[in-house]
Amino acid sequence: MRTIPHWIAGGETTGASTRHGPVWNPATGEQQAQVVLAETADVDAAVAAAKKAFDGWRDVSLIRRARIMFALRDLIERHIDELSELVADEHGKVVSDAKGEVTRGLEVVEYATGIPTLLKGEFSEQVSTDVDAYSFRQPLGVCAGITPFNFPAMVPFWMHPIAIATGNTFVLKPSERDPSASNFIAQLYAEAGLPDGVFNVVHGDKVAVDAILDHPDIAAVSFVGSTPIAKYVHQRASENGKRVQALGGAKNHAVVLPDADMDFAANHITAAGYGSAGQRCMAISAVVAVGDAGDALVARLKDKAEEVKVGPGREPSSEMGPVVTPEARDRITGYVDRGQRAGATLVVDGRGLTVAGHEDGFFVGPTLFDQVSREMDIYTDEIFGPVLVIVRAETFDEAIDIINANPYGNGTAIFTSSGQAARKFQRHVQVGMIGINVPIPVPMAFYSFGGWKDSLFGDTHVHGPEGIRFYTRAKAITSRWPDNEYHEHHRAHLHFPTAT
Ligand code: NAD
Repeated sequence: MRTIPHWIAGGETTGASTRHGPVWNPATGEQQAQVVLAETADVDAAVAAAKKAFDGWRDVSLIRRARIMFALRDLIERHIDELSELVADEHGKVVSDAKGEVTRGLEVVEYATGIPTLLKGEFSEQVSTDVDAYSFRQPLGVCAGITPFNFPAMVPFWMHPIAIATGNTFVLKPSERDPSASNFIAQLYAEAGLPDGVFNVVHGDKVAVDAILDHPDIAAVSFVGSTPIAKYVHQRASENGKRVQALGGAKNHAVVLPDADMDFAANHITAAGYGSAGQRCMAISAVVAVGDAGDALVARLKDKAEEVKVGPGREPSSEMGPVVTPEARDRITGYVDRGQRAGATLVVDGRGLTVAGHEDGFFVGPTLFDQVSREMDIYTDEIFGPVLVIVRAETFDEAIDIINANPYGNGTAIFTSSGQAARKFQRHVQVGMIGINVPIPVPMAFYSFGGWKDSLFGDTHVHGPEGIRFYTRAKAITSRWPDNEYHEHHRAHLHFPTAT
């Protein structure tokens, strides 16, 4: 059995790890590798390497850091097929989708190439007589990232290029379900000229996560994953005095108004609901159909769901692959069982789907429920699978109230031809990322990504300007260079200093 090692101080190592986790091929149902699961000593080794590298790295000029990001950018582009296939093979998503995630990650590297401009400080001349004031931002030290299985390339890219370009060193603890992309990126960083120890990868489970949260030499933790773990990470790392941003789960609603173009809405909701088998934090998982929109939409969504081509991620004709593990498949089909028992109308049933030649793969077909009530667990819970639920609302105001009553607030979308309705929606909906006739409104790398309510614990969103702020802290300098001549404004007073 192939073993996937850690990447510490510029090379592969299995360190102190004796425990392993399975890495599946979700399309065949076979275990393809095992990943080492870190002990606390492995996290200690990675943090020690990152700490040792920090003093040298923070002294590297901005322009040289930018050039390493440019080199990394070119290497990713050159290896994009390989990296996308690696993601598809371990996650299960189709290669074209994996390529999309790598491309969105690449955009953050491109943003980070602008670090000399992004880190420009402020300067005010003559704030008092002969006194200047200025400010700049400095790195924090060793930063850590803990990331989920569903975007094994893109989500870590939200963090490490910004942390590293701003002068920090980094320890990444990726998901143990699809670990290989992170080692691949580590190799590309090394090839791009990043010094050893600036970027490290430690694979593992709760043992590794807790060791990160408690480590005295880690200054900041970025987490992306499910809400209960995000809450836990935020609390434990905050108690230990760290800066924390912890992005959690989601239940993203799409509101469809009767004036929407129904074919357009159905096409986009189908893609956003079933792409990556619904395993996206920005997937549309609940549709709020307002008034007459309901019946027109359900008929179209049914047709579209039945047309989705489900198959292995490596097959170019596949539009949707399997889910990540057998446990994920069983959890998702369990929700479908309960939704049916609770009385929702099962319009399309994806249970029991088999793919010829891949009978043991973890496949669940697109599933559509109508007439879902808000007490059912298919509505209240994040299913994280290809299950779309439709809730009916009488009015637009009721649709907004439904979204605002939901504990999650990651993304949402409205389908309408009314500018007034769209503007009302963007003003009143309590959600961090909003799409107007755009179903998956993932902000570009030069904006910041983050939800509200139970979808984010901490103040700052990831990447973009908020990412720069998260990985740096400000210094404000007040400076005077008096000459030897006496001036009244150089005289010291015991009263609190004011500008002269
Ligand atoms: P997860 O919470 O199970 O795991 C995320 C990370 O936490 C992994 O690295 C995992 O090893 C670690 N972890 C798991 N259980 C732990 C525990 N008990 N103690 C300490 N660490 C633990 O999430 P997942 O299943 O890998 O990913 C799917 C979830 O991530 C979904 O809820 C999805 O919405 C969310 N997600 C959110 C965003 C966002 O931007 N808000 C983006 C992607 C995914």
